[in-house]
Parts: sequence; C-alpha cells; structure tokens
Amino acid sequence: MLTLFNEGKAKIYAAKGTISSKLEVFYNPAMKLNRDICIYIINKLKPKTICEAMAASGVRAIRLALETDSKDITANEANLNVIKTIEKNIKLNNVENKVKVTSEHAQILLRNNKYDYVDIDPFGPPTPYIEDSLNALNKNSILALTATDTSCLCGRYVKACERKYHSRSLKCGFEKEIGLRIIIATAQLIALEKNISLIPIFSHSSNHYLRTYLQYKDVNINEKIGYLLYCPKCLKRITSKETKEKCCNQDMLYAGPLWLGNLWDKELTKDFELIKYIKEESEIESVGFYDTHKLAKVFEKSAPKIDVLIEKIKDKGYKASRTHFKPEGIRTNAPLELIKSFL
Ligand SMILES: [Zn+2]
Repeated sequence: MLTLFNEGKAKIYAAKGTISSKLEVFYNPAMKLNRDICIYIINKLKPKTICEAMAASGVRAIRLALETDSKDITANEANLNVIKTIEKNIKLNNVENKVKVTSEHAQILLRNNKYDYVDIDPFGPPTPYIEDSLNALNKNSILALTATDTSCLCGRYVKACERKYHSRSLKCGFEKEIGLRIIIATAQLIALEKNISLIPIFSHSSNHYLRTYLQYKDVNINEKIGYLLYCPKCLKRITSKETKEKCCNQDMLYAGPLWLGNLWDKELTKDFELIKYIKEESEIESVGFYDTHKLAKVFEKSAPKIDVLIEKIKDKGYKASRTHFKPEGIRTNAPLELIKSFL
C-alpha cells in the first residue's frame, strides 16, 4: 500500500513507516532535515553530476531536480522491487529529463563512474561504501556520508566501533562530536591510501544519525588526524598524536584516531539557518565542547546559566557559543581554568 507524501517541492509515493523491507520503499519524514541541508549545500556548491547511491523512494534525487539547478542526477537503487516506485515518482514530478534511474549494487556503480557529488545514505554504517566512493570522485567532488549506527560511534559499543571504524569512541559528554570526527577520519584514512585528501565542509548531528560532507582537496591533512585525550576527573582534554598521557594521577582516556580540524567551511555556514547554532559554533576552532551539567557536577557547583557563561567568556576576549550537538553544551576556545572561575 503506497501513500502520497509531500516533501519540499516533491510529491512521493511510498509506504508509511521507517524501516525498508525488500518489497516496499518507506518514506521517513525524520530525514527531511537531512535532505533540506543537502539541497542547501548543492545550491551553494553547484556540482554538475550527482549520484544518489541508495535512492530508496527517490525523494532526495527528485527534490534535487526540483529545488536546485542540477540536471544530471543518478538515482541508484539496488533493490529491483522498488525501482518501479522510483520511476513512478520521477514521472509524477516531471523530472525524467534530469533524473536517471539505475539499479546496480552501489559499490559497482561507484567503481565504474565519476561524479561531482556522491551521496551515501545507508541504514547503518557508511564504511562498506567508502572505498568505492573514492573511485567515483573527481578533484573538488563532494562525498556525503550518513551514519545511523550512533550508539557504536558515540561510545556505547566501543568494541563495535573499533571493528567497524578502526577507531575508539568515548562517552565524555561530547560523544556525538567524537562520533562525527571518527567517521571523518575513517574516510580520510581510507582515502589517504589512494593519495586523496578529504576535508569536511559541513557536518551535523540530528535525531539519531550523524552526517558529514567531505570534499576532495589537494592539501596535507596528516597532522590533523590524531587522538583526543580526556580526563574524567578534571574534564581536561588535549589533542595528541599519542594515546598515553597522565592527568590527576591516572591515565587519560582517549578517543581516535579522529579528525582534529574544523567540521565546517565558514563560507558554507555563513547563511545557514536550518539548524540553530551551527553558524556560531563553526566560527570557533575547538575539538569538543563543555557540557555545563557535567561542569557543575564535577566541580560541585550549581549549573550555570549558559547564556550568562557565554557572555562572561566573551568579555575576556575568547569565543563562545552554544552548540547544536547538545542543549546544555557550550563551545569555546577559552581555557578550562577560566571557565571554572565563572562557575
Ligand atoms: Zn585531570
């Protein structure tokens, strides 16, 4: 049973629900924001050829055809049972001249074609697709990766993260950011074997997934991949190439390898309004942020008023803002000692 949905300028036939079965394609309204942001980015960067490797209902490909200047979009879906639905949706929106449907395994399609933008939006980890995606990239191409396995990336299943991402996650109050930085470094390390450098230009954590947009650039990124060391006793955090360091008379915990550079290209965030605080936090260079509830608990103070704390930090000449990762979070380049003095 298919139902008609509206999203952006698109009309889509799909089944109600969120889990895709072999026979039907589901429409997940929770991913609307994911696609809204994608459209924002495509409108800014205007890639010529676009590949949606797991098209499902085709909603993203169709919206890109309707809401951006893109004229060369490949909507690929390996599941032959849902191809008819994608074709029906493309006809319904009159975008047959812009969207081409293919039905190959994503890996095979990516191995044999080149695109300026590749979207990997799987259910679960994106890692099985990264290597083949790299073959499909031109210089300056963009690779968008979604990961829905957040409990593994964000420190709940550390072993699973090591197995899937070859990186150590860590529950520390800003684990969602750690998770994003792990996905980025995982893709970067696979790419470096092919002499490709990937730089994140936009990243976000929304609902139950993490997403990053990486651009193929000619730059040296080696020095920005490393570890984050964290002391749960005093909340000190440092970035390092090593995993061993002591603080408060004990070994610091660590996460990584992860990306230690910026999560956003400021040019892309300056007009961005779809998620609150991303524009502000993209101005601040910091790995991780402070959870104000954690600060209060560890230092046995009452939880500070976030906006007041931000103003106090700014008055001292440092940058500070809220963060989209967490309502009680505060991103700043100020030293921990200064923040402590305001509690
Ligand atoms: Zn310490």
